[in-house]
Amino acid sequence: MINKIAVFPGSFDPITIGHEAIVKRALSLFDEIIIAVGANALKKSYYSLETRKAMISKVFKDEPRVKIDHYEGLTVDYCVKHGAKYILRGLRTSADFEFERAIAQVNKAMESDVESVFLLAVPEHTPVNSTIIRDIIRSGGDASRFVPASISLKDYKGGED
Ligand code: ADP
Repeated sequence: MINKIAVFPGSFDPITIGHEAIVKRALSLFDEIIIAVGANALKKSYYSLETRKAMISKVFKDEPRVKIDHYEGLTVDYCVKHGAKYILRGLRTSADFEFERAIAQVNKAMESDVESVFLLAVPEHTPVNSTIIRDIIRSGGDASRFVPASISLKDYKGGED
């Protein structure tokens, strides 16, 4: 049997309940999901790459079908290298759709064998995004309800990159 492998690329700065839900739902569609943290040297992150990966690893420590990795360069190149025929993305709003449409169409033009698959966020996750969570953390607020229950933000130091 051919394994259906999907890559879920993103910044995950930090991982949110929105990301977690998309991955959990996608496990019924794919045999394996690689959460691939984009290591973009030009894009400054709040949490270091190691910290972001550590958080994600903790969230999915009991799910052997979820792998955690990082990458530089093109997402489609990463997919080909890892035998993944699907790119998983989440959609919250029409703004997400327009952004994702362009990326997916360009990815398709570059690598026609890789399909982008979108899952619509559940309504309660529509306003959840990493930028707002980082703002809450920077301002000393409690962002715990927006991150997966299995991680505690106080265990991770940010703002150093
Ligand atoms: P990027 O930096 O590529 O936007 P993110 O880490 O912000 O990466 O998000 C990765 C993926 O998860 C994207 O497809 C994004 O649309 C999706 N996503 C982010 N937040 C949510 C959410 N609350 N519900 C569903 N999908 C989400």
